[in-house]
Amino acid sequence: MNTKNLIRFIIIAPIIAIPLIVFLFFYMSISHSEEMFNNSIKNLKQELLLKEKDNTISKVQMAIEILNYENSTINEKLKQKVRDRVNKAFAIGSTIYTHNNGLKSSNEIKKMIIEVLRTMTWNNAQSSIFILDKNGVLVLAPEYLKHQEGENLIGLQDASGQYIIKNEIDIVKNSGEGFLWDTFTRPNQDKNTQYQQMAFVKDFKIFNWYLGSSEYLDITKKEIEKSAITILRNINKNKNDYFFIYDMDGNIILHSLNPELEGKNFLDSPDKNDRAVASKLLDSIKKGGNNFNSYYWKNPNNGLFEEKISYFEKVPNTNLMIGSGFYTKEIDAIADEKKRELEETNIQELNIMKIYSIIFVMLSTFAALFISKKLQEKFNILKKNLKQKTDELILLNEELEGKVEARTNQLKIAYENMRKLANTDFLKQIHNRFSFLNQFNSLLNRYKNSEIEFSLIMIDIDFFKNINDNYGHHTGDYVIIEVTKLAKECLRESDIFGRVGGEEFMVLLLYTSLGAAEEIAQRIRAKIDKHDFKYIKHATVSIGVVSYKKDEDSTDMLKRVDKALYEAKNSGRNRVCSI
Ligand code: GH3
Ligand code: MG
Ligand code: MG
Repeated sequence: MNTKNLIRFIIIAPIIAIPLIVFLFFYMSISHSEEMFNNSIKNLKQELLLKEKDNTISKVQMAIEILNYENSTINEKLKQKVRDRVNKAFAIGSTIYTHNNGLKSSNEIKKMIIEVLRTMTWNNAQSSIFILDKNGVLVLAPEYLKHQEGENLIGLQDASGQYIIKNEIDIVKNSGEGFLWDTFTRPNQDKNTQYQQMAFVKDFKIFNWYLGSSEYLDITKKEIEKSAITILRNINKNKNDYFFIYDMDGNIILHSLNPELEGKNFLDSPDKNDRAVASKLLDSIKKGGNNFNSYYWKNPNNGLFEEKISYFEKVPNTNLMIGSGFYTKEIDAIADEKKRELEETNIQELNIMKIYSIIFVMLSTFAALFISKKLQEKFNILKKNLKQKTDELILLNEELEGKVEARTNQLKIAYENMRKLANTDFLKQIHNRFSFLNQFNSLLNRYKNSEIEFSLIMIDIDFFKNINDNYGHHTGDYVIIEVTKLAKECLRESDIFGRVGGEEFMVLLLYTSLGAAEEIAQRIRAKIDKHDFKYIKHATVSIGVVSYKKDEDSTDMLKRVDKALYEAKNSGRNRVCSI
């Protein structure tokens, strides 16, 4: 990605990324709450069912607590009952005595008391007042034991072997009054069956008697149960909130929904379904389970057979079981209703969330646009600064390049001049002394051992000093140039021609014998001699010629040519001499 695209990306990215992140956040939140809602809806029925079950259990347990409480009062109730009776009888007996004492004989008074107290009976004459003397003689007996009056019962034992009368006499003698538990037969019942009863005895000192009364436990228990059941009946009059109480034999004790069933036995129901359900319920409770049972039962609200769930629990220390139940369809209906309500609120909540999400996405888009714009502005400033700097640099560069070029040109010229100066004579464009001797040395070295012949010529302008003196240096220079030109015209391209002194020249002639070289020298001499120089008309040169001799070095050869020239000068000038 190049820089331009990167900048474009940095500017565009927030516009896409920020709203996208906000959108995704809301999208996930909405999805999550929808999922949560669906889960809660899914479990709603199950939760309501569990709740209703808990409700049913606590309802049944409340009923059991009420029954337990009532049962716990049984002793107190029994005691109160028998004590009240005896105290009442005692008061009556005492009053009769007080009113008749002195008026009637003791026996008459006794009889009067006995007959009055004989009329005091309870529970269909199952309970009454009894009188014994402190020796154990029965004075007043319950109606069904009347024939035993006058008998001494001191040796009477109850079913558990307790000497009832003896114990009673002991209580009276020691405490004046008191309670005791015993078992006793019952009027109109089998004489061998003993029933537990609570007795209260009280000293009646006037006649050495004691009065007493007893109450059977089961009777009071039934009474208490009845009162508890009345309480329960009053608690539950609501059709959807009721109890039923059965005894373990299937007798319906309480059915707050169908009171007409009370007193009937569930197991004797004419309906086959009822009987089946009854035995199922009784069986399950007999197995010791406090449990839920599910079965089909007629719904009194619509008359249809519907699935029902009931909970039963046995009441401790009784023959009773208490139950309560509900129709699952009713729970379904409640669940559906609740679901509708929840759905409605959920839709509202979701709509609100959606509106929020739209608002936030829009706001974030604006924010993103703003950020992006700011970024773009920043980048533009940067870009502008960068361009300015770049332009400055380019300008600087161009300026530098110009300077470098100018300097390079100067150097080029200088170099060229130098090169020319180094390699050529500044007057005649031929080798100078240094260049010529260089060439001469290297060629000599190259060819000295070969068969190739090469020769060296040395030229000196005659009486040059005079020219300078008579015509000036300028003319002298002119003569040098002219001589150079004339000599060059006599030479080949391949000949090495150099100015080795002020007015002295040398020529190296490759592939040239001494004779050939002399000829060339003569040609040069003659050409100059014939030439018509400006200003001075006539000039001559003297020339020395040598050719290379085996084994000599460059110095030897230069000396020899110098010598040859010297000879030419000495022998009259304007001539060629060779060695
Ligand atoms: P000779 O015949 O014996 O050679 O006599 P000459 O006068 O030529 O003597 P020589 O060769 O000794 O003198 C050369 C003179 O040339 C000396 C110097 O003043 C002059 N000269 C050398 N180079 C130049 C030059 O480049 N230009 C001019 N005008 N004169 C030069
Ligand atoms: Mg000279
Ligand atoms: Mg000279």
